[in-house]
Amino acid sequence: MNRPYNFSAGPAAIPEEVLQRAAAEMLDWHGSGMGVMEMSHRGKEFIAICEQAEADLRELLAVPAHFRILFMQGGGLAENAIVPLNLSRAAAVDFIVTGSWSAKSRKEALKYAAEVHTAASGEDGGFTSIPDPAGWRLSRGASYVHLCSNETIHGVEFHELPDLAALGSDAPLVIDFSSHVASRPVDWSRVGLAFGGAQKNLGPAGLTLVVVREDLLGHALPACPSAFDYQIVADNKSMFNTPPTWGIYVAGLTFQWLKRQREGDATGVAAMELRNRAKAERFYSYVDQSQLYLNKVAPPARSRMNIPFFLRDESRNEAFLAGARERGLLQLKGHKSVGGMRASLYNAMPMAGVEALIAYMREFEQHHA
Ligand code: PMP
Repeated sequence: MNRPYNFSAGPAAIPEEVLQRAAAEMLDWHGSGMGVMEMSHRGKEFIAICEQAEADLRELLAVPAHFRILFMQGGGLAENAIVPLNLSRAAAVDFIVTGSWSAKSRKEALKYAAEVHTAASGEDGGFTSIPDPAGWRLSRGASYVHLCSNETIHGVEFHELPDLAALGSDAPLVIDFSSHVASRPVDWSRVGLAFGGAQKNLGPAGLTLVVVREDLLGHALPACPSAFDYQIVADNKSMFNTPPTWGIYVAGLTFQWLKRQREGDATGVAAMELRNRAKAERFYSYVDQSQLYLNKVAPPARSRMNIPFFLRDESRNEAFLAGARERGLLQLKGHKSVGGMRASLYNAMPMAGVEALIAYMREFEQHHA
């Protein structure tokens, strides 16, 4: 069966091999007589699934031994509260605001953090670039610095994480990597904590991934719910309460799929980075030379995962989307807050999908010239 190409920003396309395997194991996982959704999270079968998923993720993302991997629930938005509940102490929290998601994180932190400080914002430029780190106004003694390393709505990505120490801050860096996790390697020497929902690059909605440096555990505010206290979750190997078992299982299948990916000598996440770079370059270079389509983000900050684009004649938006659907190019409508279109090119999107989209866009442009 030829499935359509799905450009959703999330929940998003999952590699077909992963879906096939989950379907084949739906009624009976490895001869256990149970499907994964029916298993106790404390039984040996599920514990094996969970430990394998964690080990594979640690290998894929090269997570150092002094970081803990937590499988939680609540999504990226719950983490906007859970992070300050765990890390904000009595000091200020610095925010780098580069789009809707970091703006939301900042707003939520106001409820929990002693002081919230905007160290830099790209709002004046309509969130089309990343403010130069040399100009960030970082606080002295901040409890952490938060940024969203890929803004899913505005299509702005940090291609390099800032070195906070070099910028004069000794605070840990917290990144929301929901929408580009596993699309490229992470420089853990610059990160204190990373969080992300699984529903873009890792699997189904319901699973939230947290990777946290060990020294940041054990500082939760008294009001922090036990199920969201990183120390308690870590001590209980993500089983303090029932974890999102199905999400962990499907993410685990995705990790195995990722480990099998090859691009020249590169494997796993390094292979995905090469592919993602090639897909994004192909798409941006097509858009940039076109008379009809437009992307407004400054080239050094352009996301490889989420590409918002606009028709210069917006009256053709509905016709564009209808034609795309007819050709099996799904979920291209842009986020309501920015309008236009958005193509999300996560790991599961092959270059053939990008080529099919460009072929359609070219045809549409010629037809309406
Ligand atoms: N952060 C980012 C970067 C996101 O893209 C999203 C979801 N699109 C969220 C946070 C919120 O995630 P959730 O809906 O899982 O809470």
